[in-house]
Amino acid sequence: MLELPDVEVLRENLLPRLTERRVQGVEVLNGELFRLSPQDPSKLQGLRFGQLCRRGRYLVFTFGRGPRLVMHLAPWAWIWHGSASYSPTRTTGLRLTLDDRNELRVIVPGPQVRAAVWVVESAGKLEPVRELGPDPVSSGFPRATFYSRVTGRRRLVKDLLTEPRTVPGVGDAYADEILFAGRISPIRYVHTMTSEEVDRLYEAIPATLLWGITELRTRLGGALFEKEIRDFLRVHGRGGAPCTVCGHPIAEIQFDERKTNYCPRCQS
Ligand SMILES: [Zn+2]
Repeated sequence: MLELPDVEVLRENLLPRLTERRVQGVEVLNGELFRLSPQDPSKLQGLRFGQLCRRGRYLVFTFGRGPRLVMHLAPWAWIWHGSASYSPTRTTGLRLTLDDRNELRVIVPGPQVRAAVWVVESAGKLEPVRELGPDPVSSGFPRATFYSRVTGRRRLVKDLLTEPRTVPGVGDAYADEILFAGRISPIRYVHTMTSEEVDRLYEAIPATLLWGITELRTRLGGALFEKEIRDFLRVHGRGGAPCTVCGHPIAEIQFDERKTNYCPRCQS
């Protein structure tokens, strides 16, 4: 699943492809992308792309004072950009034809569409976006707000990290990496953590996400994602491999249908 670092680098790499481009055509090939409410994507026709913003793991395409196109690329969905001369595949859910003979497509492989696209007047009025907490890689991720979300919570710390209202954009992979960087075990309950541990966790959130962004920029160059890039992670997906700090095998546990990896020696 794309997480904040993935979506941020996708945003950076998409922007030069879209700047000043005009939408010439809109075709919805999989209506389930717009399943959440009745919407009219054809409103985008004729509009020129403006800014491309990110809120958590949502991409927000703006068109001057026009409507916003909001995308949530859930598991197994991604964006393709290339020549309109390539026929869309069966997995193409949405096509935007641009005025430079390229197309922007949302690809949704698999029978179950979990990605979602909205055309709205304001992204801030869209419920899942409105409910997001402060962005953890911007200067507006205040310690006090994080503390107020954390204090006394009887929740597993990994569940807390993947709450969009607390830390938008973090999923299983980066939650594991944040906990490794903060030396906190994923099976700890938040209300048992000392203030020094909460401090370490708070510091590890932006540090880990910014590290992920840097690593992804290096690996992608200016390209778009064709698959998940997770090879540089230190614990997630590395069950059984030696810890990069202490050499102890990385543990793997499964709870609530989520895979979690951590180092039992470095994290407590
Ligand atoms: Zn270790």
